[in-house]
Amino acid sequence: MHACRNCRMILNDEKICPKCQGTDITEKYSGEIIILNVEKSEIAKIAEINAPGKFAIKVR
Ligand SMILES: [Zn+2]
Repeated sequence: MHACRNCRMILNDEKICPKCQGTDITEKYSGEIIILNVEKSEIAKIAEINAPGKFAIKVR
């Protein structure tokens, strides 16, 4: 699994991030959070995530 360094979305085998079209992909991330409802999610606010999906908590 990989994560986009730009928006932290977790990707499977994509070479380009489908969310931000970024190509800065890293294997080095830690933690995963799944955001279902951005408006209702406190985690999304804390992690500064503005879209539903699966995201890494930290990328290096
Ligand atoms: Zn991205």
